[in-house]
Amino acid sequence: MRNTPSGVVIEAEGGAVAVGRFVAQLQAQPPKQARIEALQISDMPVCGRPAPFEIKASGRSGDLQAGMPPDLATCADCRAELVDPKDRRFGYPFINCTNCGPRFTIIRELPYDRERTSMAEFRMCPNCKREFENPADRRFDAQPNACPVCGPQIALINGHRTAEDGRQTVKAEGPTTAIQEAVQLLKAGGILAVKGVGGYHLCCNAANGAAIDCLRERKHRPAKSLAIMFAGLDQIKRYCEISAMEARELTDPTAPIVVLRWKPDAELSSLLSLGKRQISPDTDDVGVFLPYTPLHHLLLAEISPLVMTSGNLAEEPIAKDEQELSAILGPVANAALSHNRAIVRRCDDSVLKIVAGQRLFLRRSRGFVPDAIGLPLEGPAVLACGAEQKNTVCVTRGAQAFLSQHIGDLDDYRAYRFFQETVEDFSALLKVKPAIVAHDLHPDYLATRYALAQSGARLIGVQHHHAHIAACMAEHGLTERVIGVALDGTGFGPDGTIWGGEFLVADLADFRRVGHFKPYRMPGGAEAIRQPVRMAFSYGLAELNANDRRDLPALLSDLDADECPVLAGMIAQGVNAPWTSSAGRLFDAVAALLGLGAAITYEAQAAIRLQTIARPEGVPPYPYAIEIQDGAFQLSFGPAIRAMVADLRANVDRGRIAGGFHQTIAEAVGEMCVRIREGERLERVALSGGVFQNDLLLALTTNGLLRRGFQVYSHQLVPPNDGGIALGQAAVALARMDGNLQENSNF
Ligand code: ZN
Ligand code: ZN
Ligand code: FE
Repeated sequence: MRNTPSGVVIEAEGGAVAVGRFVAQLQAQPPKQARIEALQISDMPVCGRPAPFEIKASGRSGDLQAGMPPDLATCADCRAELVDPKDRRFGYPFINCTNCGPRFTIIRELPYDRERTSMAEFRMCPNCKREFENPADRRFDAQPNACPVCGPQIALINGHRTAEDGRQTVKAEGPTTAIQEAVQLLKAGGILAVKGVGGYHLCCNAANGAAIDCLRERKHRPAKSLAIMFAGLDQIKRYCEISAMEARELTDPTAPIVVLRWKPDAELSSLLSLGKRQISPDTDDVGVFLPYTPLHHLLLAEISPLVMTSGNLAEEPIAKDEQELSAILGPVANAALSHNRAIVRRCDDSVLKIVAGQRLFLRRSRGFVPDAIGLPLEGPAVLACGAEQKNTVCVTRGAQAFLSQHIGDLDDYRAYRFFQETVEDFSALLKVKPAIVAHDLHPDYLATRYALAQSGARLIGVQHHHAHIAACMAEHGLTERVIGVALDGTGFGPDGTIWGGEFLVADLADFRRVGHFKPYRMPGGAEAIRQPVRMAFSYGLAELNANDRRDLPALLSDLDADECPVLAGMIAQGVNAPWTSSAGRLFDAVAALLGLGAAITYEAQAAIRLQTIARPEGVPPYPYAIEIQDGAFQLSFGPAIRAMVADLRANVDRGRIAGGFHQTIAEAVGEMCVRIREGERLERVALSGGVFQNDLLLALTTNGLLRRGFQVYSHQLVPPNDGGIALGQAAVALARMDGNLQENSNF
């Protein structure tokens, strides 16, 4: 048996029946973490002597195709040994086996062998070595195999520095004392940094409101939801609504953060309801996960639940080593539970939600990266650089796409450096030199500038919303033309305006904009994103009658009345007030109209509040209008804005108005697609864009389209937000290469 660049090679010799049984069993019951994508069988000369089972050393030419595995949560067997006082790994925070443990985050180079991981520094003791070499052992060939005698160790590091040389000191060593001291700190309301698989977490007691407030203040994260880690499923069930499928996701080896719904207040224990509003102030949803390393299990057995958030300040990349830890240890954390196994590449937790029985990724990272995503076409190696926010990059080889872990918002220079490292990392792991570099059309995105500075590769610019739709198509193996509905925040439009409410007829190679949301001015540009009430003002000014326009300052409680003339001037003269057809800005405007538009501290905050209060059941949609503008359909929500203002004046319940608004978007998207179908004869609709993270809107829109007889495709493998853009860029670039271009392009 041998790991080779193209997979595992097994030489088996024996009678025809025995070998046949071996092959059948391999297919029917492959080893737990094996995935058989293809099986090729060929005859070879009989060597005739009984040979012992042996695994041959890997050749040096291995690469991702041979399977660089994602990190795996601690398995049930290891969990049982961890709490068994008779086991030699009792209480050992680095227990792992062939079925579990770190992979992607400890591998320096392929092929995946211990000497090329950050476990190379630890020499296996005779006991571990015996397990490692015994084919009958669960730890046979488990590269990170370790025990208390030979493996990594934890230590608790003090947050405050010594007076003499300003160094942080080790407070406690050894699993028992270090964990006990950490638990004491958490019980006293302190903040602890914990070294995980892909980086440090910051955690505190989820039942201690003051501790959560303190964590938010120190981390500069005033309102965005925080994830909670629970010791076990039973505990989650006490606090959250959970389906069988959600439970399966939580206990899967990928161990993602799963977004659940809090139980109604009445049912919540008084203990945690104390922290509930501090954990997720804007929504009834909460991201929860289960311990996925032995260290988590040991810690959570003593204190649970814990708020667990990535170890960074604001939007910087997650800290992965001692140097990066120093930025949060002290300023944010009182102490750090750390260890001496290096994290080779950082990797944040994945976040997903189950919507209509399907995965909706909000972030695809640890546990899923670097699994390949199959593309419906192949070609030379492509590097796709992604967009500016929630950046990921994608490298292709053949018909496989490798989407990177979450990198972050590139306007932070540390995130941009991480972006550059990841581009090099993925190219090196795949052993490819990209012949094509695909990029967004926005000239100021750092990812675009990086692409344009590359020489020796062909550059292919891909429009932002075409990339969104192409990502959805690629996931589903679609290459023929579809109707693409991209509801998004911001994307560069070739006409010089900001797009984001787009109806495209698209194949992978090209697209035509057949419809869009009616555009409005964004007074102050990006400032109109940070202050959603500015968008409400802009919509109001354009759509309301003279009387209502005069009342706008009174209607918009979050708007400073003195600012109105300035904003009105910007809009009238078109100075620092770009046009946008963005669906995200429409959600902002409506949220602000309903009094939810105070300045936001994180992306989509106003829209999240709007979704949270929405009660759509039995509420009819508001009126809207489909007009023809320059040969394309223009969807105007002016009539809806007027009707919502009338409802507000009539004191209609805001939950009803918000619900009616969601119904309106779903209805209008459905009717637009019907109009497009009349001319284009297309039955397939692909939905993408960051606004479809709103699962209420996604469900209403999907149902409305199905009712009208469409086949509806939405994301299941990558996020609908800009975290999935790179996959779409890569697919478009491949489709544009000669030979893949459709002969009779209709664009
Ligand atoms: Zn295990
Ligand atoms: Zn050992
Ligand atoms: Fe986008």
